Amino acid sequence: MKAIVVSKEHKPQVTEKTLRPLKYGEALLDMECCGVCHTDLHVTHADFGDVTGRVLGHEGIGVVKEVADGVTSLKVGDRASVAWFYEGCGHCEYCTSGRETLCRSVKNAGYSVDGGMAEECIVKADYAVKVPDGLSSEAASSITCAGVTTYKAIKESGIQSGQWIVISGLGGLGNLALQYAKKVFNAKVIAVDINDSQLEFAKQSGADITLNPKNEKVSEYIQEHLDGAHAAVVTAVAKSAFNDAVNAVRAGGTVVAVGLPTESMDLSIPRLVLDGIRVVGSLVGTRQDLKEAFQFGAEGLVVPKTQTRPMEDIQDIFTEMEEGKINGRMVIDFRS
Ligand SMILES: [Zn+2]
Ligand SMILES: [Zn+2]
Repeated sequence: MKAIVVSKEHKPQVTEKTLRPLKYGEALLDMECCGVCHTDLHVTHADFGDVTGRVLGHEGIGVVKEVADGVTSLKVGDRASVAWFYEGCGHCEYCTSGRETLCRSVKNAGYSVDGGMAEECIVKADYAVKVPDGLSSEAASSITCAGVTTYKAIKESGIQSGQWIVISGLGGLGNLALQYAKKVFNAKVIAVDINDSQLEFAKQSGADITLNPKNEKVSEYIQEHLDGAHAAVVTAVAKSAFNDAVNAVRAGGTVVAVGLPTESMDLSIPRLVLDGIRVVGSLVGTRQDLKEAFQFGAEGLVVPKTQTRPMEDIQDIFTEMEEGKINGRMVIDFRS
């Protein structure tokens, strides 16, 4: 079968690969599609360590073709996910307390184990989440990473119906965060981005207020007009967005960090203590989070923006991503 692997030159490369036989508890997926994510760029460029030869992809959706002994959660014909959270140990304090993505022995698809950018992929059946009927595989692939990440972040923010939430950064992640916040949590959304075209798209997707930090002092505006937001989810990759978010929330507010700039943020300790501000990090989502995120997609509440491409386009897609030319999610289609 054909797969996209990390080459010795740290580039994505389409190559021929033979899979090993299935082991107990595993399933073989006939891959339908797999989204391309910024994390794939980091993995390929060896930013997290050299993984030459690894099959990329953690936004994969495939149809179960074969199951090994011991599989009860999937059957042949089911559609299932290949996610960044590929497998936890199953017995540590995180795995047994609903925080399995923090497992210290976690395996990540397309990084520490072979991922979903291939015609076939082996998964641990109990960790592959079933895709509900009514949700296209392209949409499901986006929800497997960006969707579940933002859905979980909004859950972590503790936002309630009718409250104000800041979504900072309206790219692929932020736009899904906006849709989950509006349609699933029934919150009021303030969209913040330095790019006016992203803000225009946010408005079309239902943002109540859009603010561009280039034209507006974002936190002052929010404090003055709304007495501060109840929560903020930051998907932007600039330190200033994190500082702005802390300044934009009201007393008791929560700031959830999702974007990954490499810098440190400034935190005023009196502001944290006297105003009871919480700042938390959120990492992808558990299997249960993904199940819920899929279901809201199947109900039509959240619609990821995707575009399908053949696997031979992978190098072009990487270049376009590096140049910031991509709007929405590029999804590799293996069915053609
Ligand atoms: Zn991803
Ligand atoms: Zn564990």
